[in-house]
Amino acid sequence: MPPSGSAAGNTGSAGGNTGGGAAVPPPRPAGTPAGLWDRYGRRATDMRLSLTDKCNLRCTYCMPAEGLEWLSKQAVMTRDEIVRIVGIGVTALGVRELRLTGGEPLVRADLVDIIAGIRSNHPDLPISMTTNGVGLDKKAAALKAAGLTRINVSLDSLHEETFTKLTRRPFLDRVLTGVDAAWAAGLGPVKLNAVLMRGINDAESPDLLAWALGRGYELRFIEQMPLDADHGWTRRNMITAAEIRELLSRDFVLGPDPRERDGAPAERFEVRRRDTETGDATGPVLGTVGIIASVTEPFCSDCRRTRITAEGKIMSCLFSREEFDLLGFLREGATDEELASRWQDAMWVKPKAHGMDHTGLGAADFVQPDRSMSAIGG
Ligand code: SAM
Ligand code: SF4
Repeated sequence: MPPSGSAAGNTGSAGGNTGGGAAVPPPRPAGTPAGLWDRYGRRATDMRLSLTDKCNLRCTYCMPAEGLEWLSKQAVMTRDEIVRIVGIGVTALGVRELRLTGGEPLVRADLVDIIAGIRSNHPDLPISMTTNGVGLDKKAAALKAAGLTRINVSLDSLHEETFTKLTRRPFLDRVLTGVDAAWAAGLGPVKLNAVLMRGINDAESPDLLAWALGRGYELRFIEQMPLDADHGWTRRNMITAAEIRELLSRDFVLGPDPRERDGAPAERFEVRRRDTETGDATGPVLGTVGIIASVTEPFCSDCRRTRITAEGKIMSCLFSREEFDLLGFLREGATDEELASRWQDAMWVKPKAHGMDHTGLGAADFVQPDRSMSAIGG
């Protein structure tokens, strides 16, 4: 196990830039072990790779209404570059699972081909994808056939009006059709992601859970993070994990899930109905619900993630203000060994923690990243 360091917060890491440019990480100390280790003894084995920064929704907690200035086609990793980078992660650096994300992965015309390329090199790699589900019904079977293992669909509301208000697009029906098609195509277990916004969809949370449980989908509530392009997030306005548990307790009793958390961002609970008269749990376990409390109950000390943005930059943390260039180096002709080494250097300086988990409004040492969630790859 590598030595542990002392810097804290997302302002404490060394070298690099603050977004945008093509920085080179400082070299890690000689003798650091193989794999994506950092200074604090964590090893990243879970890779999140963004396929595009583009999206066909405009969720208020992520994108501005007018969209963002998209990356040029040349700036984004090609199918072959993605396949090579994933290969280095898996073969040389010990990555054990891959999540494809964006932006919206389904807007990439070569998505099926990308997955097929990765799968042909890594027959046993779990490959999942996070999507908004728009158009998923048409692609689910092909994605499964290409080798996608599983799917996460974002769904914040079952009410047309609320959905449209949150995503700024009237596509609820298309998302619901997509979720069911993914399940039918064998892309289960289907996980649903929901972000609760105060006064908009928070009161709907028990109904959303009842709907998901009834269909055998695993719902996960994600605390809203300060990763919106509009910089509208406030600590006072976000719905905390404690509030989410309270909201769900209207209809349900949540009990601990006996399974090991094993580095997963979501804390899982077993769900049973609440007896309206006694207030006690009644009946069988209906399924599980997850709560991802990145802000109020962070899990940085057990983080196992490494991120590659759509333009091939390494981000060691969602909240990192440093990005390190991998794609430019690849295009300059770097060997697999050189690319692996740069990736290791970039992960070595991963911040200890993101610095949001302080009481009060606005933690002093937390600085919102320049990029929004869609541009990083959530
Ligand atoms: N477009 C796809 C989707 O929406 O599922 C994939 C990319 S999206 C950035 C990945 C996940 O990040 C979604 O589940 C979305 O709800 C979540 N997300 C986006 N902005 C967020 C924020 N500010 N706080 C918490 N979660 C956020
Ligand atoms: Fe698009 Fe996903 Fe961001 Fe919504 S959360 S705007 S679907 S990238």
